[in-house]
Amino acid sequence: MLFINEGALLKVGMKENILSFTSEELKSVFKQKYNQPSYRAVQVFGWLYKDISSFDEMQNVPKKLRENLTRDFFNGQMGIFQSHRSHDGTEKFLLKCQDDNIIEAVKMEYHHGTSVCISTQVGCEMGCIFCASGREGLVRNLSAGEMIGQILAIQKHAKKRISNIVLMGAGEPLQNFIEVQKFLELVHDPKGLNVGYRHITLSTCGLVPEIYNLAELNLPITLAISLHSPSDIERSRIMPINRKYPLKDLIYACLAYTKKTKRRITFEYALIKGKNDTIADAEALIKLIKPVSGHVNLIPINTTDTKLQAPDLQWVQNFNEFLNSHGQNATIRRNMGSDINAACGQLRWQYLKKSE
Ligand code: SF4
Repeated sequence: MLFINEGALLKVGMKENILSFTSEELKSVFKQKYNQPSYRAVQVFGWLYKDISSFDEMQNVPKKLRENLTRDFFNGQMGIFQSHRSHDGTEKFLLKCQDDNIIEAVKMEYHHGTSVCISTQVGCEMGCIFCASGREGLVRNLSAGEMIGQILAIQKHAKKRISNIVLMGAGEPLQNFIEVQKFLELVHDPKGLNVGYRHITLSTCGLVPEIYNLAELNLPITLAISLHSPSDIERSRIMPINRKYPLKDLIYACLAYTKKTKRRITFEYALIKGKNDTIADAEALIKLIKPVSGHVNLIPINTTDTKLQAPDLQWVQNFNEFLNSHGQNATIRRNMGSDINAACGQLRWQYLKKSE
């Protein structure tokens, strides 16, 4: 399997983003480059996850080492370029990368903690018709450090710990497999952000070979499949990836994933009026995912495209009740931040349109 990680911004000039380094990698760099013991690398790694803006603020690190770090690395914590707060507490951010690309992230408040939805690519080439992130195509992959940088920027802004992470912003995480895999290792490190795998959700539109590869990692994260239709014909219209990996292949991959990881899969189902919201669709959905026994997350679609509309709330509830009364576990996801364009890619799309 060929993974794509070309195109992630790994260096600016000769400097590397220190947030992309695991503590083990830093230990080896410190030894080889600066002849420094492991504990120094661990010390510096810990500092990166504190609210600092320069290496000079690492008070217990020798001056010479701080100078070396300033020469060789940059701290890739992102700058918040715009923020919009919803009446429900959801906050959406436009963040600026080192190469001036703009990406989106969203912070959501739940009773169980603060959750951040991050981007894994600049733009996306998957072309799902309901999603603004795909309209400009893929610009490039984000590095693991840039994913960490989003969380650190929001944590600093919110002045509270981020306890849950969702890889469901712009981009297809599994198309950027190497950097996402590294990000999962970084974010889980107890000396860093220390977010448990069970508090991380990775959402994919259905890249089948990469689902098998993710299963091999055997991490107890939650895998969310953007399903959105139980029919190959309709799903191919909504999500072009279905032409490459049709439902049968996707469900086999899901089965392999649950068998290997023992984790329940979440199926995301954005209800679109007249496209996937009939009782026949609900019946087909139950039949399709029955072997996997996953959970269905119903989402009344939230999009700028006026041709795609959500069914009315009563119908969403009827659809949900039908699933549950026929043995399929389902819930309706709260539509958070709809007054601030919190659906995937909307804010960045508006920004790009205004800048044209
Ligand atoms: S929904 Fe996800 S995979 Fe589909 S175009 Fe948007 S960002 Fe890409």
